[in-house]
Amino acid sequence: MKSYDVLIVGGGMAGVSLGFELSADRSVGLLEMEATLAFHTTGRSAATFLESYGGPQIRALTISSRVFLENPPETFESALLRPLPLLFVAPEGRGDLLRQLQADVSLLVPDVRLVDADEARGLNPLLAPGYAELAMLEPRAMEIDVHAVHQGFVRGMRRRQGEIRTSTKVAGASYCDGLWTLTDAQGERFQAPVVVNAAGAWADEVARLAGVSPVGIMPLRRTIFMLAALLGLIAEYCLPSMTRVARISGTEHPAVNGGDACRQRGGEGRGGCPRIGQSL
Ligand SMILES: Cc1cc2nc3c(=O)[nH]c(=O)nc-3n(C[C@H](O)[C@H](O)[C@H](O)COP(=O)(O)OP(=O)(O)OC[C@H]3O[C@@H](n4cnc5c(N)ncnc54)[C@H](O)[C@@H]3O)c2cc1C
Repeated sequence: MKSYDVLIVGGGMAGVSLGFELSADRSVGLLEMEATLAFHTTGRSAATFLESYGGPQIRALTISSRVFLENPPETFESALLRPLPLLFVAPEGRGDLLRQLQADVSLLVPDVRLVDADEARGLNPLLAPGYAELAMLEPRAMEIDVHAVHQGFVRGMRRRQGEIRTSTKVAGASYCDGLWTLTDAQGERFQAPVVVNAAGAWADEVARLAGVSPVGIMPLRRTIFMLAALLGLIAEYCLPSMTRVARISGTEHPAVNGGDACRQRGGEGRGGCPRIGQSL
């Protein structure tokens, strides 16, 4: 049986980032049920660093992580963020929602500002005339290289002697004399005084195995399609301001991402492309 100071269940962004930090001064084992890491939510992200996103706690965490992401340690081999200002768009009749959002968000993110429909179209001419009632610009939003962030944590954790096991689904957990014993689906056992449940959407399933009350998390598939859109038009509309657009809506919409098309057509040199349609 392998023994560690800490066992982490789940090899998504939460598990590997914690594994990296904790393995600085203790032995850490990370158990991932899939054959590859980042197979689930981490691999589906729309890759946007948004200080306005979530409630006040999430906003505070995002704001605090900017320093790390902008100046990562050397196990991160490339830049993790690149500027991609984001435009939230309220269609006619939904402007009040955006005013409320701006009032909430500006407490922690003072540089978000409301922009009128004309300025919004100036920032992103792909908006149909008359569509937007109001918009909100988040000028310091960034695009995240999610793969680079995740791999930097994995590399750093391994360099610190942290151990990562894939194809290892935790199927049982017991606690005795201050030690947890986790058993995987093949019957192999792992032991540690501390277990971190970083199983994402399966956190309740893992909690139940350990006799911990579930909090109501269910694994549901939610996918955003990032498409190279408007191939014929996109090069015409590449803006130096590189504004991404998010639509204020109660329903899901696929995201449309013109970035790759822009790069293929040489638009990168002009500063990148606008992006359309992230659901809120
Ligand atoms: C469509 C979409 C778009 C998103 N866009 C953004 C965005 O633009 N910006 C942003 O910041 N965030 C975004 N997010 C959110 C972000 O992706 C997640 O918050 C983050 O990836 C969660 O990481 P995690 O490690 O908690 O979960 P996961 O990545 O799901 O990792 C959990 C891991 O636990 C493993 N596991 C589960 N059960 C067991 C078990 N019994 N034994 C062993 N392993 C187990 C799973 O296989 C999985 O690998 C988005 C999410 C989605 C779905």
